[in-house]
Amino acid sequence: MEDCVKRKVAIVTGAGRGIGKDISLTLAEAGTDITIVDLATKQIEQTAEDIRKLGRKALAITVDVSQQDQVRRSVEQTISEFGKIDILVNNAGIFIFKPVAFIPGARLPGWEAAGDNWDKPQTLEDWHRVIDTNLTSAFLFAQAVGPHMMKQKKGKIVNISSTAAEQGASYKSAYCVSKAGLSALTRCLASEWGPFNINVNAIAPGMVNTDMTAARLRDPKSRETILGKIPLGRLAEPREVALLVLFLASEDSDYLTGQIFTIDGGAAGQGPGI
Ligand code: NAD
Repeated sequence: MEDCVKRKVAIVTGAGRGIGKDISLTLAEAGTDITIVDLATKQIEQTAEDIRKLGRKALAITVDVSQQDQVRRSVEQTISEFGKIDILVNNAGIFIFKPVAFIPGARLPGWEAAGDNWDKPQTLEDWHRVIDTNLTSAFLFAQAVGPHMMKQKKGKIVNISSTAAEQGASYKSAYCVSKAGLSALTRCLASEWGPFNINVNAIAPGMVNTDMTAARLRDPKSRETILGKIPLGRLAEPREVALLVLFLASEDSDYLTGQIFTIDGGAAGQGPGI
């Protein structure tokens, strides 16, 4: 499988830390040169350094993935540095834990998990920030990268969705909607670009061991509740998600497109439990 991404060029968003960093290092180990984009300049410089130590080329670009001009510029810079783009991984994402509305004295289901935000209603700005970072960004990158892949009649796009895409969870409305949209966008792009030999798939992780989930796991009671819902009894490691990205970016997955691959230690398979 690894030979299949040798001498390829990838763009990975949100690659400063967490899952995006592991995706970048895993693709680089397998021979891919990478443009890493993130808001966090210092962190992407470190990721770039780690990629170069693996013998691959790396271009670190500070980008807010929700801003069309910055997205376009990063794609143009990648083309002028590497001459092509074979793989796009839309991974950057944020999570806000807030109720849609709130009245004093109310205790909405799941309020304990929301930490300090349990009684702070989501603002319109919160809503847009989550949708723009998690969903609009993937549209913007696909729009900028798509024509290059269409011309070369080949390409792999992997979107990092979430099992939240299938949930109607309280306090997570913007996040669930953004990820449901990302899964839908995955299927739409697979239809539009199938004739150009471009594969578009998504990965839907359950809980992964990163900074995004760290706060919720610090509290022993909430840790016990979360782990109790996962048959394998542990969180995924970022590298485990990255290995699935490697497969979807390789020629071994050439007949897969428009699919959402769940990686959650068996949690979703348990059903609602009532
Ligand atoms: P993380 O918070 O550790 O890392 C996210 C990265 O995205 C950070 O480096 C951050 O700087 C970057 N980022 C955020 N907003 C950005 C913006 N506007 N422009 C550019 N970069 C931006 O998160 P993670 O846990 O590694 O999650 C990565 C992806 O996986 C996200 O899309 C997340 O929704 C998804 N996911 C995570 C989990 C989990 O349990 N950690 C589960 C399911 C899905």
